[in-house]
Amino acid sequence: MIELLIGGTVVVVGGIALTVRAVQARRQQVQAMAEEMLRLYAANEIVNQEIKTVEAQQIASRVADACDIEMGKASVEVLHDFFPLGFEEKLNSLGTAGEREEFFRELINRLAAAMKVEIAEIDFKELNPNEYGKCGNKRMQLNAALFLDPASAVPATKMVHTLLHELRHAVQDEALLEGNPWGFAPSRLAEWTVSNANYVDCTQAYALQSIELDANWYASVVLDMFDKKN
Ligand SMILES: [Zn+2]
Repeated sequence: MIELLIGGTVVVVGGIALTVRAVQARRQQVQAMAEEMLRLYAANEIVNQEIKTVEAQQIASRVADACDIEMGKASVEVLHDFFPLGFEEKLNSLGTAGEREEFFRELINRLAAAMKVEIAEIDFKELNPNEYGKCGNKRMQLNAALFLDPASAVPATKMVHTLLHELRHAVQDEALLEGNPWGFAPSRLAEWTVSNANYVDCTQAYALQSIELDANWYASVVLDMFDKKN
């Protein structure tokens, strides 16, 4: 390594100069990677927007079966019993995780009875941070952090939407696997069968699958009916 004194400044050449060039090259490489990531992210955002638009079209143009209307009305009655002053007011009055859990268990059981579907087990547990809940084999699992912990809880409307969405999945399962006591149209059962058999789990496009569209449609219809009655 050589040090040169030029105009009072010590300039180091040799090993350190090489290291500086390597660092600059690496910095440029990282910058290029970051730009590429941003480009991909922007492209993905456009796709996500398109998916949301198509999902909204599908939900808005959905036609209810007679049994959907009956199920929706029964669900709204339960919501009125449990939330006479609205969702947020009720949730705010439940200060502890224990109180919230007890409340939700009772609400889920009452909604399930109104929808005439069986839920054998309800678990509040740690799920993926972006997963609100899931339902299969008559077992409903809910994200404890998002439902019970007042510090990390999502808005109450989102919680109720999730419960209705998951209960509707239980209805779909029972309609397909245990007869169809509700009387859903055969075309609807066919849609759900195909959707179940080809289910994809991990992309934004999952929301466009028949069983997901149906679960979101049901939850939004019930919430709309609840809002209009209030
Ligand atoms: Zn779902």
